[in-house]
Amino acid sequence: MKSDPPATAGHSVETVLRGIPASPGVSIGRVHLLIAERVHVPPHKIAPSEVQRELERFERAVGQTRAAIERSRERALTVAGIAVGKIFDAHLMILDDVVFQQQVRARVEREQFSVDYIVNDVLGQNIEIMRKQPGETFRERAADIGDVLNRLLRFLRGEGDVMPQSFSEPVVLVAADLSPTDALHVDRHLIHGIATDQGGLTSHTAILARSLDIPAIVGLGNLSTQVHDGDSIILNCNSGKVILHAGAATLAEYRGKQERYLAFQSALENLKDLPASTTDGHEVQLWGNIELPFEAESVLAHGGSGVGLFRSEFLFLTRDTVPSEDEQFDTYGKAAEILAPRPLVIRTFDLGGDKLHGSINIKQERNPFLGYRAIRVSLSRRDLFRAQLRAILRASRRGNVRVMFPFISGLEELREAKAVLAEAAAELTRERIPHDPHVQVGIMVELPSAVMMAEQLARECDFLSIGTNDLIQYAVAADRGNEAVAAYYRSFHPGVVRMIDLTVKAGHKAGKPVAICGELGGNPVAAPLLVGLGIDEISTNSTNIPEIKKIVRTLSYEECRRIAARALRLDTAAEIQDYLTGELKKRLADLPIWFS
Ligand code: PEP
Ligand code: MG
Repeated sequence: MKSDPPATAGHSVETVLRGIPASPGVSIGRVHLLIAERVHVPPHKIAPSEVQRELERFERAVGQTRAAIERSRERALTVAGIAVGKIFDAHLMILDDVVFQQQVRARVEREQFSVDYIVNDVLGQNIEIMRKQPGETFRERAADIGDVLNRLLRFLRGEGDVMPQSFSEPVVLVAADLSPTDALHVDRHLIHGIATDQGGLTSHTAILARSLDIPAIVGLGNLSTQVHDGDSIILNCNSGKVILHAGAATLAEYRGKQERYLAFQSALENLKDLPASTTDGHEVQLWGNIELPFEAESVLAHGGSGVGLFRSEFLFLTRDTVPSEDEQFDTYGKAAEILAPRPLVIRTFDLGGDKLHGSINIKQERNPFLGYRAIRVSLSRRDLFRAQLRAILRASRRGNVRVMFPFISGLEELREAKAVLAEAAAELTRERIPHDPHVQVGIMVELPSAVMMAEQLARECDFLSIGTNDLIQYAVAADRGNEAVAAYYRSFHPGVVRMIDLTVKAGHKAGKPVAICGELGGNPVAAPLLVGLGIDEISTNSTNIPEIKKIVRTLSYEECRRIAARALRLDTAAEIQDYLTGELKKRLADLPIWFS
């Protein structure tokens, strides 16, 4: 472990800033300030005889950039999964945009400036347009175009592809923002933490840092203008606190936090093969949520005992065409084989809402989240639905496959969906195609009407799975992706807690298990509550599994039931959250989220 940086240097006073904790951990080190390359490309006139050579340089640089982005995409998919891979799909689309390339060629021929200048001018203008729009999406889009532009210019100039990382000792990287390419190529051995001025929880830097397991804080305002290379810096990425020029006492305090955090992480490793059982022997199934078949391996590696949510719509979202039945069979079969005999719950396509696709004719809707989405799309596009159900039924021979319908509002959709499933099974039987006719069928409880009908629904299917991400937004009428109403999107709203309670009781009354597969399941604070309410299976992102397992194994079922009963009697979200936080803190003082 490296030595502490010097305490309060000269006139520098200890300064505390707060940002958004984006990837957990505690890092202590010296600042390496990454100054965003201000690419200035002067207008360089060329002779008419040089036009052809410039166009050839452009073709070559586009080819090299494409190959480089594809390499990044591969790396992203392997180390960080589909969400990050998609960033580079977007980069390929920017690079291969026909209008962009035609514009560059036409302007080089007409204006006779170097291709570097024209490329910079064309993409630079696009960046400016994006920057002027409000909201994180446009900012990210501008950053993506900037990333592609930088790569292209580097290749045009014959320079290397990515940021050089030649530090003599590990550093904490500070930047206004980090391009996805630079973030992806961060060397974890040399960069111990990342702090950026911009970005939110779902920004590219945040997603990448989490996937690469590098502690990070984003949204720090103007940190990059307050520090210099070599300054001492502490990032408490569990709380979002940044401390500059820390004094000796603060440094010692954070060294302690860092050690406890690391010890806690390594203790989690040892739980991998143990069940998620309370101290008095009540076992909860801990499963993972996945988007790509190979992520099933990560679920097992983190100690999960199945997959409770396979978001199958990824098959659409990474391409423009419709996935064939055979391709789906192959994809589902692969995941089922990795997990067998453990369960794989395949959720049928949840398209619509904000997950649009060219092949599904979704018109502009005034309220997409109240519109043509998920099971509603499937029931009206029988061709797609039947192909998917046939693929699932066929894959069920390769493992323990279950099917789950999203966005069910009542018995009508469940019955209709089951009828299509039965037709698909009958077809396969007629065609003598092997399949398991008895796959378990479940539904997602993510609409308030489904909560109220949970008992009847449970009687007509094999399991319920509560999708809290949507259930909360529909219960409190606060769009889950709208920052302006984020304060109303309260996971611990008493109305939501009661809905979970009602659903569990209804499912159990019908003799069926009840799972949770929304983000709430991965929230440590919620774990004792969910266990106490009687949730049978918690399905969450694989990286959350060890922590939740640790909590379940630390508490007794008896205690969890008492905690849940008390939480149900509280009146506001804040009271419930504070109460649950306090209870957890009492029992697990070394849980990293308390290192604030
Ligand atoms: C949910 O709504 O809680 C859920 C798990 O589904 P998604 O986040 O994919 O909508
Ligand atoms: Mg949902």
